[in-house]
Amino acid sequence: MNDLTVTRQTFDEVMVPVFSPAPFVPDRGLGSRVWDTQGRDYIDFAGGIAVTALGHGHPELLKVLHEQGSKLWHIGNGYTNEPVLRLAKRLVSLTFADRAFFANSGAEANEAALKLARRVAVDRHGEQKAEIISFTQSFHGRTLFTVSVGGQPKYSEGFGPVPGGITHLPYNDIAAARKAIGAQTCAVIVEPIQGEGGVIPADPAFLKALREACDQHDALLIFDEVQTGVGRSGYFYAYQDTGVTPDILTTAKALGNGFPIGAMLTTHELAAHFKLGVHGTTYGGNPLASAIAEKVVELVSDPKVLEGVRSRSETLKGHLAKLNARLGLFTEVRGKGLLIGAELNDRFRGRAKDFVTAAGQHGVIMLMAGPDVLRFVPSLIMPLDDMAEGFARLEKAFGELVGANAQAASR
Ligand SMILES: *Cc1c(COP(=O)(O)O)cnc(C)c1O
Repeated sequence: MNDLTVTRQTFDEVMVPVFSPAPFVPDRGLGSRVWDTQGRDYIDFAGGIAVTALGHGHPELLKVLHEQGSKLWHIGNGYTNEPVLRLAKRLVSLTFADRAFFANSGAEANEAALKLARRVAVDRHGEQKAEIISFTQSFHGRTLFTVSVGGQPKYSEGFGPVPGGITHLPYNDIAAARKAIGAQTCAVIVEPIQGEGGVIPADPAFLKALREACDQHDALLIFDEVQTGVGRSGYFYAYQDTGVTPDILTTAKALGNGFPIGAMLTTHELAAHFKLGVHGTTYGGNPLASAIAEKVVELVSDPKVLEGVRSRSETLKGHLAKLNARLGLFTEVRGKGLLIGAELNDRFRGRAKDFVTAAGQHGVIMLMAGPDVLRFVPSLIMPLDDMAEGFARLEKAFGELVGANAQAASR
């Protein structure tokens, strides 16, 4: 092998084709800007899918990466390490939780949460209390268990027999939830804001009703904060602004700012059901990932950063309102903090992908949340100038797309 020349085309030759990446190949990033291999620059509204909460190349994260990288990367769970212990201390001090279990992704954090819930139910009540309730359009990861719990059949169909005992209910439907949650229910898993499903916030009364029904039937309430967590909503975890406290919380995505790490947080009482050897992982909580996540948590939990998320949220919504006034694209802008969805109106229904492609051609990295919703999940510390520049580019990109659309319609 002596020719290692690679281009976007190489993807189609050597990669398993589960993704269809953009035509350009990102090469480096700084803050909310990314440059591709041709040297073209992009404003980043996607943050690597709600991951790079502190932007690219953050100097304090680089410092920790280099320091911990030259000390110890990995040791295995026969030994503990100081970074993971400090990270756990920070997370429990910021939340309802007393205990943390670390994994490498959101799916694995949810897998741990669901297995814990099942174990607790079996210990307390027996095998029959196995029902896991989740919601249509929800997303909880791509392992066979988490994808079956997720509420998007297109992701779970076609893999043969799936884990049983899973019920899907409509999101934000209090009556349906009250009716379904019963003695057989082991756990309810819910995103405080559905991310992949279209940026749909939970009604606070819905979350309260879930809490009440779970308490009534000794079922556990799991909040999947993989996307909403680590400052994204303008609160360190989104539950902190809902008046409802879960029994188990899962977190990943922004936790490592791009270095893979996930965690499940819970109480002493529930954690005790995961006895020695009952669950595990090779990489989870390794010192390198933990050191980086510890710094991310320290930086994002700063009240000034969280306040900055809430004010940037207003600025971003203002830009979207202006864009909409000029081009007439959206029926609704919704979400919280810097997890914002803009739903395309009837004229552009099903065409989110075209908008993302047009944005890329004009130097903006964008994301969709299903075929009808443009999703904005930028860095939590995105410079306001970059945000404004991004929207100026989007106005051009979308203006051309809408113009082409109008031409096509009049032809
Ligand atoms: C992204 C996401 C996951 C899956 O996380 P991975 O790290 O891709 O496994 C789970 N739940 C929610 C709410 C997510 O947004």
